[in-house]
This record gives sequence, structure tokens and C-alpha cells, in this order.
Amino acid sequence: MRRVSIFGATGSIGQNTVDLISRSPDAYEVVALTGAGNIAQLAGDAIRLKARVAVTAHEDRLDDLRAALAGSGVEAAAGQGALIEAADRPADWIMSAIVGAAGLAPGFQALRHGTTLALANKESLVTAGPLLLQEAARHGATILPVDSEHSAVFQGLVGEDISCVERIVITASGGGLRDWPIEALAEATVADAGAHPNWAMGQRITIDSASMFNKGMELIETKEFFGVSHDKIEAVIHPQSIVHALVGFCDGALMAHLGAPDMRHAIGYALHWPDRRALPVARIDLARIATLEFYAPDLTRYPALRIAREVMETGGRSGAIFNAAKEIALDGFIAGRIGFMQMSAVVEETLDAMSSQVRLTSPMSGLEDVLDTDQMARQMARTRITQMETT
Ligand code: NAD
Ligand code: MG
Repeated sequence: MRRVSIFGATGSIGQNTVDLISRSPDAYEVVALTGAGNIAQLAGDAIRLKARVAVTAHEDRLDDLRAALAGSGVEAAAGQGALIEAADRPADWIMSAIVGAAGLAPGFQALRHGTTLALANKESLVTAGPLLLQEAARHGATILPVDSEHSAVFQGLVGEDISCVERIVITASGGGLRDWPIEALAEATVADAGAHPNWAMGQRITIDSASMFNKGMELIETKEFFGVSHDKIEAVIHPQSIVHALVGFCDGALMAHLGAPDMRHAIGYALHWPDRRALPVARIDLARIATLEFYAPDLTRYPALRIAREVMETGGRSGAIFNAAKEIALDGFIAGRIGFMQMSAVVEETLDAMSSQVRLTSPMSGLEDVLDTDQMARQMARTRITQMETT
């Protein structure tokens, strides 16, 4: 039996992982499931999957979790320390699907035990890519990408020589506002930006898809994970979301990965890797789809892509600043404090402001440095939002 833990089990990725695991209950021994405010979901899944422990990130919800688990034999725990302890529990495969920078510490902790970490939490690679890969190498741990584009690239590279890779192309749907006139974008509401044409995902990542901050994060993720230079990585708009990524080789071949827009594909690939097993995802009917379109993104419409390219070139601590400022800008947009197009202004101006305090290109010294930089950038981004509100 494989021992598995799911961090962020109650979220969109977490629930897709729970779905796959619960289809073969005899194959897995569930060690830990973690969540935050959704106690009923967390407890229900923990009981159904016979997890050893369920952890909520909210310390003040421990009693609720205990009550929900009463008599089930599943242990209850709460708070940051409990998340780290859960990452210390031996497991063969761990899903890292907490959203945001909160996912960093449990992932790092799990790697220290030489586990296989299925990484959905893209913030880990964007903020601390080199450290994360070093930590994995130091402890003989394996990181498998779960973002659909990166899983597609990873699959395209099986048996290939990375030095023969000329380019990596990741696709973007263009998000819910893709066909809006550019001058209307400033007025887009949270409901407008929170509707995705192809994928069912959490609210934050859906809005990040509309602004293409998500794609910007993924460009940086690609550079960090595959170690390919920034000028070999491109993003292209592909409204059908059928081709997830393409890898171009030195002989001119361009290998594409096609699949239904269903995260259970990337999750399942990471779960069964290095094998391929049958997965409950829809099969592509090419004749029905008939047309696959691709076009270059307009950087005026998507300033996040331009900023992300600068971050890829700069490296160092710019990824952590980009991510932190993006999270605060997104909070500001969701709270109605800033407009849709102001999110990129917050991120760009935070990078600028931080560059007068720290050297953006200098590498991170450790997880604490990452978290300090994250906090500093968040503070600057908050200040910037307050200034925008008053002008
Ligand atoms: P989500 O918001 O649906 O779920 C987030 C999970 O994290 C929940 O279980 C929640 O309880 C937990 N959580 C939230 N705040 C927390 C905190 N402070 N401490 C501990 N736990 C906390 O998010 P999601 O869409 O499932 O995305 C999860 C991660 O995977 C993100 O990094 C996202 O970028 C990435 N990702 C998601 C998708 C997708 O299709 N949803 C695709 C690729 C990558
Ligand atoms: Mg993705």
C-alpha cells in the first residue's frame, strides 16, 4: 500500500486528488489530509479515506474539527505547527496543493524526508525555485509537476536530452475576459474575471487566468523547474485548452501534449509516475473539436506577461516579490479596492520600490529569507494600494 498525504485536500486540486485516491481505496493508506475553513469537507473525507490525521490551518477551529471527527479514530490537529508535523509523517507520495505562499513550508518539510512531492503549489517554484530543487537533491526527494502545462512538458521530455530542447511553449486559454474590448477591462468585476471558459478551478487562480498572472507565474515555474533559459520559453493563446504545452527540439520537431481540460490528468500522471495508468478523464474527439487555434498574446492586454518575462530574466528574489505583490493585488481587486488593470500596476511598482531596498538579482539564502522578502513585498504592495485608493 502506498502511503499518501494531501495538503490542501479541500481545494480544487485537493478534491480532484481525493477523487482519484478514493477510486482505489485498497491501493492507498492515507496519512494526512489538510484544509483550512471547510471543516465538514475535511472531516468527511478524512473519515471516508480512513486518514490517520486531519489538520486545519485555523488554530481556532480545532474544537470544531475534533467534534466532526468524534468517534472516527481520525486524529485532529490545527495550526501551522500541526501542518509541519503532518509533513513529517512518513509518506511515499505527498500532494502539495495549498494555495499561496502558505504552501511553501510544508512542501520543504516533506522534501527533507526524501518523499515524492507532487507539486501543484506553483508559488513554491516561483518564490523559491532554486532552494526547493536543492532541498530535493540534498535529500534524494523527487518533485513532480502538477500544473497541467508543466506536467505536459514533463511528459514531453521523457527519454529526451534537455540539451536538445530549443524551446518550450505553454498555452493559455486567455481567461474569461479574452474577447472583451481592451478599453473595457479596467471596469471588469470580480464576477466577470472569476468565470473561466474551460477550466473549473479555485476563484483566485481563475482571476489570475483572466489577468494572465497565472500564465506569468507558469513562465517562471517553467524556467525554474526545467532549468531552461528564459528566452527559450514562450506562452501562446490557445482558446480551446486542448494542447497544454509543446516542446521544440533541435531537429525542428515540436511535440505537443493534448488532453481534456481536467486536472485529474496531471494529478494522476504524478500519482502513478513513472507508470501510466488508466484515468477517468474524457477522451479527445479531434474531429468534433475540428479547430485548434493559436495566437500571440497582446502584452498591452496582459501586462502580467511582460512583467513575468522581466522577472524570469532578473531571477534572484524577484519571483518572490512578484508572487507576494500579485497576491496582495488580487486581494485588493477581490475586495473592490483596485480595478482589474491596476493589479499589474501594483506588482510592477512593488518590484520597482523593492529594487531600491534589496538587490533583486541576489539569490535567496533560505526559506526564512524567502518568507521575509515575501512579507516585505506584501507590505509595499499594501502601501501602494492604499495610495491608489486615495488618488
Ligand atoms: P483552492 O483555493 O481551491 O484550495 C486551496 C487549499 O488550500 C484548500 O484546501 C484550503 O483549505 C487550503 N488553504 C488555504 N489557505 C491556507 C493556509 N493559509 N494554510 C493552509 N492551507 C490553506 O486552490 P486550488 O485551485 O486547488 O489551487 C491550489 C494550488 O494549486 C495553487 O497553488 C494553484 O495555483 C495550484 N494550481 C491549481 C490548479 C487548478 O486547476 N485549480 C491548476 C494548477 C495549479
Ligand atoms: Mg496551469
